[in-house]
Amino acid sequence: MSETATFSRRGKLRFYGWGYADEDLTAEEIARVQGSARRLGGAAPVEVSVPQIRDFELPPPRIAVPAALAPMMSATPYDRLVHSLGKSFADIVRMFMRAVSSPPDWVAFPKSEEDVAAILEWASGANVAVIPFGGGSSVCGGVEPAVGDGYAGVVSVDLQYLWKVLEIDRSSRAARIQAGALGPELESQLKPHALTLRHFPQSLQLSTLGGWIATRSGGHYASLYTHIDDFVEATRSVTPAGILETRRLPGSGAGPSPDRMMIGSEGTLGIITEAWMRLQDRPMHQASASISFPSMSAAVAAVRALSQSGLFPTNCRLLDPVEARNNHVGDGTKAILVLGFESADHPLNAWMERGLELVADHQGTYDSEAVARSLAPGNRAGEHRQGAAGQWRNAFIRMPYYRDLLVALGVITDTFETAITWDRFETLYDGVRERTQTVIREICGHDAVVSCRFTHIYPDGPAPYFSYSALGTTTGDLYSSLAKWRQIKLATNEIVVGLGGTVTHHHAVGRDHRSGYERQSSPLFRQALAAAKAVLDPGAILNPGVLIDPIGRSAPGRGVLG
Ligand SMILES: Cc1cc2nc3c(=O)[nH]c(=O)nc-3n(C[C@H](O)[C@H](O)[C@H](O)COP(=O)(O)OP(=O)(O)OC[C@H]3O[C@@H](n4cnc5c(N)ncnc54)[C@H](O)[C@@H]3O)c2cc1C
Repeated sequence: MSETATFSRRGKLRFYGWGYADEDLTAEEIARVQGSARRLGGAAPVEVSVPQIRDFELPPPRIAVPAALAPMMSATPYDRLVHSLGKSFADIVRMFMRAVSSPPDWVAFPKSEEDVAAILEWASGANVAVIPFGGGSSVCGGVEPAVGDGYAGVVSVDLQYLWKVLEIDRSSRAARIQAGALGPELESQLKPHALTLRHFPQSLQLSTLGGWIATRSGGHYASLYTHIDDFVEATRSVTPAGILETRRLPGSGAGPSPDRMMIGSEGTLGIITEAWMRLQDRPMHQASASISFPSMSAAVAAVRALSQSGLFPTNCRLLDPVEARNNHVGDGTKAILVLGFESADHPLNAWMERGLELVADHQGTYDSEAVARSLAPGNRAGEHRQGAAGQWRNAFIRMPYYRDLLVALGVITDTFETAITWDRFETLYDGVRERTQTVIREICGHDAVVSCRFTHIYPDGPAPYFSYSALGTTTGDLYSSLAKWRQIKLATNEIVVGLGGTVTHHHAVGRDHRSGYERQSSPLFRQALAAAKAVLDPGAILNPGVLIDPIGRSAPGRGVLG
């Protein structure tokens, strides 16, 4: 059997990191990333070699599967490795360490909803834990089969064969879409109908509709439609207790929303198999501007004014001076705002003009000619992206590819995102940067680069997204990098929640954000959620350890290796 034997219908993935196996960095990119690692450490760090499948010794599956399910069950090393971890820093570093302690015993590839139900029926009876798996792009331990010893085994259920757009309702502008469709797959099926979901997380290429709904993912719209929640019209899920289907409605006042219960349930209540999604017409008009501010506080005042103006910009990405410098769109002295509008219906001149008036009120400056070019009639998607906006976008798309190499070079690089009301933003912004710097200095013994951007804005506050890079090791000792990362993660969870923010704005709770989630949420609410789980999943087989502990079972403790 070949090393990469698989039941998957998708292209071969880099099982250890981000992207497809044939997507390599250019020589120029490699040199740039190596340069950044050197700048952090002052010397050339040891680079750990890229893992190969044969480097891993996986134990044989602990359980046998029934004959009726066998044709959809894979135990090939490639399939088990792809489903062993997600794509967080900790996941990638463990792959480079060749340290995968909890591979799934089997990976199931159901071809229909009936298959999903049959897997759950068998697993419930056999005390086998089930991990729903979309694209596996979780960055919080959401797909890791680390369920402890209380289960006979673990099966990861990959929804990739459920990838079709099943029905389109043109008059309501909605579509019924299967949960396992990757972002590009569902967009390419909607395109011939001149429709789009336009939910574009940075992970679009390798994440699925079901994963977005299960994690309340955040897309590229900066305002108005920030989370996938805003596009969900109805859902259908298979639970161990039966099918849970909701009614298609544009709105409803009939009690708590059952969709809202499934949205964000992170695979703990059921497997979402399809959803009716609200769609958009494809944008015909787009305009953007790059605006520079002498200080972060001036830029924040401008963004607050924009958020409360009713203009609802599609893009309103504020980069603090350090973030701007890291993305090569500034020298580190100015905050940069990338402001954009789009519409399928009308030219955007009035929106942009008013937006620019608001930023000018707060010392924002911009290149009027570039803005005029972006507003020119006939200018369509992407064509206007010039200057800082274009450079920022390129860096944004390539960033996940650079991360694999940074990990191999011993750099700890991660992000954490939150949301906070405007009245507490400044305290949070100063507090997070200062305390994260202190924590990293204590843990790593040197200063770190901590930067911030806004991914989304609301009339009552922004969603700040923090990034940091620090040196974990110069000797290739990735265990030390990982141990330091775990300490930093626990500290940043505590810092953002302690300062009044949420532990996550759109990356979900998973396993890695549970400490913050437990601090910010009411125990009574978590008990109510656990009681709902006990009804839908009486055997507590679905994604145990993620989000909440099922009644009567507690999550296994987490060591450095997970
Ligand atoms: C480089 C990179 C960039 C990212 N950018 C963004 C971003 O811009 N915005 C954002 O919100 N997130 C982002 N993420 C995080 C991640 O992509 C999201 O959490 C995404 O929604 C996960 O989708 P997925 O299909 O990969 O789900 P998976 O990772 O497979 O699963 C995530 C969780 O959902 C559950 N799940 C998956 N499918 C189903 C289903 N059908 N039914 C029930 N439960 C299910 C899993 O059990 C797990 O708990 C990024 C991640 C990476 C690595």
